[in-house]
Amino acid sequence: MYPAATGDFQPLAEAGPGGHVEERSAIIDLEAIRHNVRRLAAVASPAKIMAVVKADAYGHGAVPVARAALSAGASWLGVAHISEALALRAAGIEAPLLAWLHTPESNFAAAVAAGIDIGCSGWELGRIAAAAREQERPARIHLKVDTGLGRNGVTLESWDTLLGEAMEYQDQGLLRVVGIFSHLAVADEPDRPETDQQLDAFREVLAIAQDAGVDPEVRHLANTPATLSRPDTHFDLVRVGLGIYGLSPFEGQSSAEVGLRPAMTVRAVIAHCKDVPAGQGVSYGLNYRTTGPSTLGLVPLGYADGVPRVATGGPIRVDRVNYPVVGRIAMDQMVIDLGPRQVSAGGPSLLGAEAVMFGDGTDGGPTAEDWARAAGTNNYEIVTRISPRVPRRYVNEEPASDGGAGQ
Ligand SMILES: *Cc1c(COP(=O)(O)O)cnc(C)c1O
Repeated sequence: MYPAATGDFQPLAEAGPGGHVEERSAIIDLEAIRHNVRRLAAVASPAKIMAVVKADAYGHGAVPVARAALSAGASWLGVAHISEALALRAAGIEAPLLAWLHTPESNFAAAVAAGIDIGCSGWELGRIAAAAREQERPARIHLKVDTGLGRNGVTLESWDTLLGEAMEYQDQGLLRVVGIFSHLAVADEPDRPETDQQLDAFREVLAIAQDAGVDPEVRHLANTPATLSRPDTHFDLVRVGLGIYGLSPFEGQSSAEVGLRPAMTVRAVIAHCKDVPAGQGVSYGLNYRTTGPSTLGLVPLGYADGVPRVATGGPIRVDRVNYPVVGRIAMDQMVIDLGPRQVSAGGPSLLGAEAVMFGDGTDGGPTAEDWARAAGTNNYEIVTRISPRVPRRYVNEEPASDGGAGQ
């Protein structure tokens, strides 16, 4: 019933100076990021790649991921907020960069000054023009149309009007309409008909723009699932987030099945390993009790680290075995039941052994998808919520000397 331990741990984290293995970290493999960008670029070609690095690159670290993505062939970067774009500029990143989610408090002047492209859903237009006038520099804007998602973007009814206003500002030299874009609602479910409806609406919008004499540099619609499943949505540029992190957007299709490699591994070392009697309650609420004498392992990751509190049952891999988390997940820690080991009598203790919460899934290791299932959410949320308390460690920062051409 309980797997035997070999006592021969193979830490995934490289030992640092003095043989020290870090007690908790999120390891980000930048070669995986580069591989994924190359893979998505091959799928999207001749369309170009915008690497979406919002939300600190879905938890992977915006600056290192942006650099890796650009080095692997991405031509654009995308973020939600102007503040995120400014942070990339402050780090010295000069690639074309689009921010698309604003409020009346957003700093459009700073965006114009930093050469950040601004997504415009309508109400921002006058403010962007005013910022451009103040900065004495034309703004670069991408007009966003709501083709069915019901979030940002101008309605189809107001498209003509927005286009006309934008053209007036463009004629005054205050801005340039660099792009026209929209966002898909159900591309992760390829059988649904709404993607076709959104695509038709987008084509209509582009035709109206063309008739009005607008000739944008880039027309863009596809996110990761559409990039992988709908070549007819690629246009000039695809905006890929999840895929560059190596995760599959499709329920029931693994990363490997879509040719991607998960870039993030969250791991720690076991903080305590002790024998307990039958009936031992575990963690707040005592919702779990051992069925017989057993040994508990304490994993020093909790909801303050971004482990969803509802995800009891999620897998932790120690010594090549996946153990479900038992009892409530707490702020700092969670518990696995290792089976009887008689540690006190010299049995195999797992104190200090590496505990992997999720990684690239090779050799049966746990994945972000396993945790998504345990938490009733998606893989996007699992990686993005890994909190700043977990130190990020970057591996393979430089491409291999063959340029990674062999992948
Ligand atoms: C987040 C986002 C994307 C990226 O979506 P993925 O599914 O992660 O590829 C693309 N476009 C917009 C507007 C977004 O907000």
